[in-house]
Amino acid sequence: PAQNKHDIAAIAKLFDMRADFVHAHPYGSGHINDTYCAYYDQAGQRIRYIHQRLSTEAFKKPIELMENVQRVTEHALNELLKSGDKEARRRTLTCIPSVEGTPHAIDADGNCWRTYPFIERARTYDTIESEAQAMEAARAFGEFQKLTATLPGKPLHETIPGFHNTKQRFQHLEDAIAADTHGRAAEVQKEIEWFMARKDEASIVVDLLESGELPLRVTHNDTKLNNVMLDDVTGEGVCVIDLDTTMPGSAIYDFGDMVRTATSPVAEDEEDTSKITMRMFMFEALVKGYLSSAKEFLTDKEVSLLAFSGKLLTMECGSRFLTDYLKGDVYFKVHKDRHNLIRTRSQMALAESIEAQMPEMEALVAKYR
Ligand code: ADP
Ligand code: MG
Ligand code: MG
Repeated sequence: PAQNKHDIAAIAKLFDMRADFVHAHPYGSGHINDTYCAYYDQAGQRIRYIHQRLSTEAFKKPIELMENVQRVTEHALNELLKSGDKEARRRTLTCIPSVEGTPHAIDADGNCWRTYPFIERARTYDTIESEAQAMEAARAFGEFQKLTATLPGKPLHETIPGFHNTKQRFQHLEDAIAADTHGRAAEVQKEIEWFMARKDEASIVVDLLESGELPLRVTHNDTKLNNVMLDDVTGEGVCVIDLDTTMPGSAIYDFGDMVRTATSPVAEDEEDTSKITMRMFMFEALVKGYLSSAKEFLTDKEVSLLAFSGKLLTMECGSRFLTDYLKGDVYFKVHKDRHNLIRTRSQMALAESIEAQMPEMEALVAKYR
């Protein structure tokens, strides 16, 4: 087993655990934070907790981030308990407070940590294996949005400003083309034209949010299958996790990113674009699952944009890969020559596949609404 990079016994002392630390090991396959599973003894019973060191590289304001997580999870638990849900405590993350009563703790090296009870009898999957999983994950993200729709008080902190501001993302692409710091623009003229031809479409949701025609909600912003715990026995989507990017946004973004990440049969950096296609049966599973929990609160305008949302998020992601390629690969880690260009082309292929199937996708949304 992998070695602990951090002294977890010392981390345990920073939190109000009310149990004795036994041991811990690195856990899960997350790419952002350092996650540990820790065993505790509580009156003779062995119980598990998750300790996570937040990536300060990815998150510049960890305390604001944890304030968001605390507010959202506390509200979700209250709502679940109010509804009489017997499994309420498995259906949301809950923050174990530090000895100082905050949802985070800072260790001797200045690292920011948080602690959650371990969600037992459920697990996450790195790749989607079935339509049932896609449906359950989409349903769980809809439930999450439903729970947070009633969050009282001021808006959440925008922990990553402009995260889904597609208009701004396209502006950054244009800036990178104009600067052409690595002399790569000439070689990618075709790709540049592709994105510029879709510039107006890319700003639709941003404009509707600005004009108030689309509501600003609490959104998750990282709606991948590996951020939903599925029950070991029933396969049910029990709990949405990884709330680092939870902030104000549009429901369209969360659903669109599910379409982008769940409907293609191949990885995001597939070179053979002929293998990239939006699989309708997966889209159907997502629509069915998502609308089963979300249709009661979504507005007509939001529902009318669900089919388009996949294309929007795929274009957004593609534009970010192309921008990074032009800037000399400064943001996304690259593992081979032209990796960001390969990723750009794969997103373009997926967006084109969505474009070609739009009428059928619209029909499916109408069927389940
Ligand atoms: P990252 O941002 O690095 O992806 P996550 O918060 O998604 O971090 O956590 C990484 C993995 O740890 C998850 O995919 C999940 O398998 C596991 N995990 C996280 N929180 C819990 C929890 N409360 N109970 C059980 N497993 C968890
Ligand atoms: Mg994760
Ligand atoms: Mg994360």
